[in-house]
Amino acid sequence: MKITFLGTGNSTGVPVLACDCRVCKSENPKNKRLRASILITTDNGKNIVIDTSTDFRQQCLQNKITNVDAIFYTHAHADHILGLDEIRAFNFASKKAIPIFGSKETLEGITKTFHYIAEPIQKGGGIPQILLNFVESDFELFGLNFQLIPLKHGLMDVFGLRTGDFAYVTDFNKISENSKAKLKNLKLLVLGILREKAHATHIGLQEGLALVEELKPEKTLVTHTAHAFDYDEFNNSTPKNFEMAFDGLQIEL
Ligand SMILES: [Zn+2]
Ligand SMILES: [Zn+2]
Ligand SMILES: [Zn+2]
Repeated sequence: MKITFLGTGNSTGVPVLACDCRVCKSENPKNKRLRASILITTDNGKNIVIDTSTDFRQQCLQNKITNVDAIFYTHAHADHILGLDEIRAFNFASKKAIPIFGSKETLEGITKTFHYIAEPIQKGGGIPQILLNFVESDFELFGLNFQLIPLKHGLMDVFGLRTGDFAYVTDFNKISENSKAKLKNLKLLVLGILREKAHATHIGLQEGLALVEELKPEKTLVTHTAHAFDYDEFNNSTPKNFEMAFDGLQIEL
């Protein structure tokens, strides 16, 4: 399978609107980070998107995504769901609804935000065509087994996801021993770290390094990063095999 980083930024994206800090003004393309999302392309060509970020349309154009076969939602925060309306174009092209997966709480959060999805519309009005799939335990999709990784994101319960020896855990500040046990023996861990210092709802750099020390994945790619981090400085100061990802990065697993 192939992983494509559609976005690696925090909820504001980088550059941040109205900010003139040196990272926001940086000309390094790796300091331009859209809102966090990845695409998993299976060996038989199915596209599974994790979170439809605020920048989803732009991400699909940049990465030439022409079909979406399923979407998994980690949680219902704006930066992870606001691109949902854009799937209409894929509905039109495929003439099919797209199955979406997430916890009951997450999918209910989404249908509250996008209340019109469940409402009758006038003829000709376009709404996203989705099929809700509440998941509470491991599930199978297009021949891949997905394991849910429960995490705490402030007061909110969110899911990370593991398939094979790859895992994606972004928005969280607390992880249980049970969830840590599910993240052992990974080839690739994609880990959300907001900034240097810990935050009320996100881990900071030191916590991220300590977690990786415990889990010992072969490689860690950091995502959901704020403008506090410059790409080159981050990668020059962190251990080997612990790097910041960038938008458009593709990894074959
Ligand atoms: Zn987020
Ligand atoms: Zn800035
Ligand atoms: Zn969040």
